[in-house]
Amino acid sequence: MTDDVFDLIGAGIGPFNLSLAAQFDAVPAVSVRFFDRRPAFDWHPGMMLPGVEMQTSILKDLVTATNPTSPWSFIAYLVRHKRFYQFINAEYEAVPRREFADYLGWVARGLSSLSFGVGVETVEAKDRLFSVMTSKGRSCARNLSVGVGKGASVPDWALALPKSLAFHSSEAAHRLGSVKARRVAVIGGGQSGAEIVDALLDLGTVDKVEWISRRPNFEPLDATPFTNELFTPGYMDRFHELPEELRLLHTKRQLLASDGVSASTLKKLYRRFYELRVAAEAGADNPLTLRPFRDVVGLERNGASVQLTMRNGFDRSSETVDADLIVLATGYRYVMPDFLAPLKERIAFNSLQEPVLRKDFSLEWDGPCENRIFLLNAGRHSHGIAEPQLSLAAWRSAVIANAVIGSNFFDLDQLDPVILWNETLPAMGFATPYGEAAE
Ligand SMILES: Cc1cc2nc3c(=O)[nH]c(=O)nc-3n(C[C@H](O)[C@H](O)[C@H](O)COP(=O)(O)OP(=O)(O)OC[C@H]3O[C@@H](n4cnc5c(N)ncnc54)[C@H](O)[C@@H]3O)c2cc1C
Repeated sequence: MTDDVFDLIGAGIGPFNLSLAAQFDAVPAVSVRFFDRRPAFDWHPGMMLPGVEMQTSILKDLVTATNPTSPWSFIAYLVRHKRFYQFINAEYEAVPRREFADYLGWVARGLSSLSFGVGVETVEAKDRLFSVMTSKGRSCARNLSVGVGKGASVPDWALALPKSLAFHSSEAAHRLGSVKARRVAVIGGGQSGAEIVDALLDLGTVDKVEWISRRPNFEPLDATPFTNELFTPGYMDRFHELPEELRLLHTKRQLLASDGVSASTLKKLYRRFYELRVAAEAGADNPLTLRPFRDVVGLERNGASVQLTMRNGFDRSSETVDADLIVLATGYRYVMPDFLAPLKERIAFNSLQEPVLRKDFSLEWDGPCENRIFLLNAGRHSHGIAEPQLSLAAWRSAVIANAVIGSNFFDLDQLDPVILWNETLPAMGFATPYGEAAE
């Protein structure tokens, strides 16, 4: 079964390939097909906890930034569902994640280029085509778009723990309802950690919640205007041109612009903690202990519980905490999908063993230049901290679509950034900002 030859096949249908599919919907001359192994669209179901909110403006939806007349915008979704006025009246500072997920699901149900319940198993390159073996047969394409998300990041000390003693935040919504543990340690001071602490307190059955974070404090997402300039095409463009050493340095420094906790979540948790203290004065037990600046360095099993050893960065002391359950809100990491294994030897990798990405989000490989493999959610160190976020998803999709079409179908011209990040240097004979002579 090798009949189908597409201009592009997409592996995985999370928001990022969904955005690409929605942008291609405006380009009838191009044939695309996207596969996801899930039976239907579902956005991070394991973190769909009660009351969770978006960290991004709804204008940064799947399409609007580069195609505001698309039928697949969040505003079109609101109008179609007759909620336009009520949505405005609700005056959300942050939109509920559940509503955004419903929008994504609505787009996924409306696009005919998507196939669910189909896993991508292997990809081979031959005769100037990619041959894509899926769980439902083989298809071919001139280009690939890999949007399979990231893998759970689990610290070494937790790798051998059984499921009864630890789970990753990506499973939280499925596991929290049946938590019987009296003492729970939540590791990780980002947004997921905060949401899980809140949900554990909601259960009302846990005697002790220890919130442990390596960061010096429970730190806010910096969503102020100049920091938000990092989430613009102009910044991404300039960032991509930097040497790898500087890109790695900048992404480390910019952690709180992408991975901090929303101010509204921090305020909610602080008030919660304050109320627990007031109740404690009246004799109630306070179930929450806040332990930022703690790096977990070891773990000892103790029958049905564990003892964590931590290094306290505040006073450089050593501490221990006993827990019956550990929730690992320790984030996600790039993992090369198994189906690309047959091509691995032909792909260029950076010093972190991540594929090197060109400006158009295609990876460097030794295949024909008309056969591109676009990699989504793998460019934090090549394109900057905005790449794994929704902020520039619509723009990235338009960049990829233009590359596949071979013309500027989407107008991607931008004004200069408001910040002069660097001066463009003449090509010859001038010192670079790093003190070396430019070639
Ligand atoms: C809880 C949470 C909340 C977030 N909230 C925000 C936010 O508010 N704002 C923001 O900008 N960013 C947010 N992000 C970051 C980012 O926008 C999301 O992680 C986003 O889901 C990334 O989309 P994706 O398409 O790369 O991957 P995913 O959403 O992970 O989707 C990947 C898809 O690929 C499929 N798949 C995997 N392997 C295969 C295969 N071999 N064959 C077929 N299908 C496969 C999976 O089934 C899955 O459906 C959030 C992240 C998390 C974890």
